[in-house]
Amino acid sequence: MELKVFKFGGASVRDADNIKNVGAIVNSFKEDKILIVVSAMGKTTNALEKIAQSYFDQTKGLRELVDKVKSDHHEVIDELFDDTAAIKSELNDLFVEIDWLIEDEVKDSYDYIYDQIVSVGELLSSRVLNAFFNSIGLNSSWLDVRDIIKTDESYRGAKVDWDSTLSFAKSGISNAFKSADVIVTQGFIGSTNDNQTTTLGREGSDFTASILSYCIDAKEMCIWKDVPGVLTADPRLFKNPIKLDKLTYKEAIEMTYYGAKVIHPKTIKPLENKGIKLYVKPFNNPSADGTLISAEGSNHYPPVIVIEKNQVLISISSNDFSFIAEDHLAMIFSLLDKYRLKVNLMRNTAISFIVCISSEVDRIAGFTEELEKQFTVTQEKDLELITVRHYNDETVQSLIKSKMVLLEERHMSTIQMVIRQVPLQQRIE
Ligand code: ADP
Ligand code: ASP
Ligand code: MG
Repeated sequence: MELKVFKFGGASVRDADNIKNVGAIVNSFKEDKILIVVSAMGKTTNALEKIAQSYFDQTKGLRELVDKVKSDHHEVIDELFDDTAAIKSELNDLFVEIDWLIEDEVKDSYDYIYDQIVSVGELLSSRVLNAFFNSIGLNSSWLDVRDIIKTDESYRGAKVDWDSTLSFAKSGISNAFKSADVIVTQGFIGSTNDNQTTTLGREGSDFTASILSYCIDAKEMCIWKDVPGVLTADPRLFKNPIKLDKLTYKEAIEMTYYGAKVIHPKTIKPLENKGIKLYVKPFNNPSADGTLISAEGSNHYPPVIVIEKNQVLISISSNDFSFIAEDHLAMIFSLLDKYRLKVNLMRNTAISFIVCISSEVDRIAGFTEELEKQFTVTQEKDLELITVRHYNDETVQSLIKSKMVLLEERHMSTIQMVIRQVPLQQRIE
């Protein structure tokens, strides 16, 4: 018997057929104890984000948005269960929380409200999955991850309090496994010491699974996906990317840091620290090998391409031709930290500092407003950041064909280019 952690994302639980498939996968691991971390169903998180925004802005149509999330869940339940009364009542208790919140006037910060509403997605999906497991005869039990993962109060991007999380996980999860073979819990959410719900940042469920794997010393972790494994590029953007059979932790952390959407970037560290193997496997072909991420991988990789859309290039220049010196840079970086903006690429020249950031309209506005008191700030929007690991000339040339490269950085095995699409000019004959 081994202790394994499985993470199922939104796509793998988006409808009744996919949930049945998850049931079949878990059923085939009868010999093991399985901790399951699940994301919200399908596009539920996006729908809940709209509800949070609509409530905060007090716009029309809020009720309809909530009703739609409810009816989407009921539709799946009606297909999954013969008797739906018990599970509908469980979900209703969760919807009541949203109903109460949105009936009140807006008193709290947007980030706090966001976490209270958006976290419901994972609470709903985990209830449905656990009830379904029980209905097919699995000895499964539901666990509230907010009793385990403790965080600070940085709503929408909460930081994990590792000491408390470790001790709650050790006792809470081993207790739950005494009477259950499968535990279903939520990805993406946690709670403060005062039991206020927090979220770990979008796509954070992979990270949850990795935190829990670390805390309980799992034998291995597996992320089940709608792709054959980790590929050399996003199949939504490139034809025929190749599956990578093995990756080192180092290669995986680099790829995800540069924005490869297949795994959340924070996932790798806890696993590497304890040498826990990570598999990325296709949920529609569970016996396939997928990709294994571990300490031993290949040292030779084909070019791996990562595309980050919606990039903004911000240029910060001194007004009086003075150098952008270390004191200015220190100030710029403290503002980047204050507005929680992640630097994707940067360059400094004599009198300017150029930085490429993912578009976060509100936070960039606050950042540039403060800078404009002292510097001239210009922005170029709607750009793409292309990163190629293990690049070769042929790959780079094919990627920048009919595009303008605004900023380029080469370092060892990695090239990064900020590009703008340029319409191809055709000569009139
Ligand atoms: P989930 O939330 O269901 O776990 P995501 O949609 O977040 O899954 O991630 C899976 C998607 O990641 C794939 O459908 C694929 O389009 C995309 N993706 C981006 N880069 C890669 C890559 N290098 N390898 C595999 N998939 C990738
Ligand atoms: N449901 C959350 C999101 O869509 C977390 C996750 O899926 O990982 O961002
Ligand atoms: Mg996802």
